[in-house]
Amino acid sequence: MEKVFGRTKGLTDVPFHYCPGCTHGIIHRLIGEVLEELDIIEDTIGVAPVGCTGFSLDFFSCDFVGAAHGRGQAVATGIKRALPDKIVFTIQGDGDIAAIGTAHAIHVAARGEKITSIMVNNALFGMTGGQMAPTTLAGQVTTTSPYGRDCAVVGTPIDLPKTIATLNGAVYVAAVSVDTPKNIMQAKKAIKKAFQVQQKGLGYALVSVLSTCPTNWGLSPVDSLKWLRENMMPVYQMGELKVAKEVEAL
Ligand code: SF4
Repeated sequence: MEKVFGRTKGLTDVPFHYCPGCTHGIIHRLIGEVLEELDIIEDTIGVAPVGCTGFSLDFFSCDFVGAAHGRGQAVATGIKRALPDKIVFTIQGDGDIAAIGTAHAIHVAARGEKITSIMVNNALFGMTGGQMAPTTLAGQVTTTSPYGRDCAVVGTPIDLPKTIATLNGAVYVAAVSVDTPKNIMQAKKAIKKAFQVQQKGLGYALVSVLSTCPTNWGLSPVDSLKWLRENMMPVYQMGELKVAKEVEAL
């Protein structure tokens, strides 16, 4: 029988540990495919801080380094500066990059570090128990906001990619989703461009991917996709938020 589909070489054969219905696995696969298509598996070093992505080193075929919570981009900066010929990327949850690691996210982009960051936004801290994050939506119930996020007390959700897009060193910023086949294809295009930006040495690139967390949202996998579409997509600006002139030709 003709083989029509196979696992990308960018991923190992270790089964994902993610909860059923979680879209983290799709994002991993897209990154793995991009690494394979750009033929950079052997030249890439990934960095994953604490969070649901923390076991990424088991799943990707490239080299991988673990980092303390929120410090992925600082570690990636050090690796890239020491080994400028390597392709260096981070994969971080929103609780990690937009809360604990906010300062790194801002300054890495301001400095235009030539790394690629993939932010997985599921509107809360996933692995640590579903606590409220800066990305948690107004009124959203989490384990630390049992009556719903009260924006009068804790402020409104931070749209990190929008902020990063204002910084000169960030040359490519996109916000995508993996809730439908069409959106998955668009997400892959954005992720690929973010790696190509680094291959050409153009500057910092960030792709934020809206992702589900059925476990902490207390929803079925199908209802989680619906919830993401109806609640997250209207709040977070979607699409290519910044394409610097030098990136347009890619
Ligand atoms: S806790 Fe949420 S984000 Fe983490 S693996 Fe489970 S469903 Fe996915």
